[in-house]
Amino acid sequence: MSVSIDLKNPAESVDSAGRSAKSAAKPNLIGMDRDELSAALEQLGVPAKQLRMRVSQIWQWLYVRGVTDFSEMNNIAKGLRSDLAERFSVKRPEVIEEQVSSDGTRKWLFRFPSRGEGKAVEVETVYIPEENRGTLCISSQVGCTLNCTFCHTGTQKLVRNLTAEEILMQLIVARDRLGDFAVSTVQRSNQDKDIDGRKVSNIVMMGMGEPLYNFDNVKKALLIAIDGDGLALSRRRVTLSTSGVVPGIVRTGEEIGVMLAISLHATRDELRDELVPINKKYPLRELLDACRNFEGLSNARRITFEYVMLKDVNDSLEDAKELVALLRGIPAKINLIPFNPWPGSGYACSDWEKIEKFADFINQCGYASPIRKPRGRDILAACGQLKSESEKLRIKERLALENSVTSV
Ligand code: SAH
Ligand code: SF4
Repeated sequence: MSVSIDLKNPAESVDSAGRSAKSAAKPNLIGMDRDELSAALEQLGVPAKQLRMRVSQIWQWLYVRGVTDFSEMNNIAKGLRSDLAERFSVKRPEVIEEQVSSDGTRKWLFRFPSRGEGKAVEVETVYIPEENRGTLCISSQVGCTLNCTFCHTGTQKLVRNLTAEEILMQLIVARDRLGDFAVSTVQRSNQDKDIDGRKVSNIVMMGMGEPLYNFDNVKKALLIAIDGDGLALSRRRVTLSTSGVVPGIVRTGEEIGVMLAISLHATRDELRDELVPINKKYPLRELLDACRNFEGLSNARRITFEYVMLKDVNDSLEDAKELVALLRGIPAKINLIPFNPWPGSGYACSDWEKIEKFADFINQCGYASPIRKPRGRDILAACGQLKSESEKLRIKERLALENSVTSV
């Protein structure tokens, strides 16, 4: 059974267009890089020679201690604290729903205020606990400009890019809710230095949207997430997934340095053009060249190739053979994803037996080929199910509400 907790904050005023006036008012320090933080302090009159020290103190409060109020920053003079509070914010965004699946998966529905003219947007983030790690699946856009035919997000138009603050807030709020900030302030005894008792040990940019079409914001957020003096996630535990935006792949290696996952799904251009239409712009040869040249690629730092199992479309033994031939020479892991169906998709998930045969074959060829277990299906948190379904439910709820109002 899944549990749903309504976390709507009645104190937050949201206007009829869904704009949240309170949180839109002051710029949030979360999501600013060190230079921006320094400029913010300079504006408040902090002397030039103190800037570095103050930035580093605030960085610790924000990202090691996870404070939600300036009054907690007790090594900063009261005057500066109140100046900061007047001009800036460290508040969390509104979380309108938290759902917990029977398998422990959690899903949060965030509402982020409007930026400029648009309306407030809703974004989903999923937490997947496993025995030896906890993975947070983060969204980078609301909707997507690409139209992969098997992906429900692809049927939604792009609403907007998320800002660096909004991308990072998904991690910060998950850490709040899971108690990770409290853990980082006490002595930890875990032997694995990377995990260090954390609930969120891994991040995957595999939520809604194409992260490489929002490169600057994703880069900024991830660089803060892996900053050793703050959130300090291991860069080997942060994975960015792309449908194959070749120029962005090169920049990811050079400028961010996190792990890479490619949504491959087909081994021939003809089929990939159909399933992942960005293939027409960056065909397989170019994509795989970019992978081969990916900065820092080695057997210890492999690229993950995601492959969704679509019945009678890409799941034959012949496909498996082509896959192995295609990836020859690239340090790779292959992640088989059983297709998560959605109404009207026109696809079905391959039979389990077929998925296992496919996996066995690529395993024999020397590839680790885990089959991704669908998690959190009861709360619509599995790959490709994000947002769209819950949006539909919300529309239904709204209609029901409207009907009940008009019938009074
Ligand atoms: N836009 C990026 C990241 C988000 S999608 C990308 O495409 O890589 C995360 C993964 O879920 C991708 O590999 C995507 O192809 C896969 N996916 C999308 N819809 C799915 C569905 N219905 N069933 C299974 N996997 C799906
Ligand atoms: Fe966009 Fe990724 Fe879905 Fe393709 S699979 S439509 S790139 S979110």
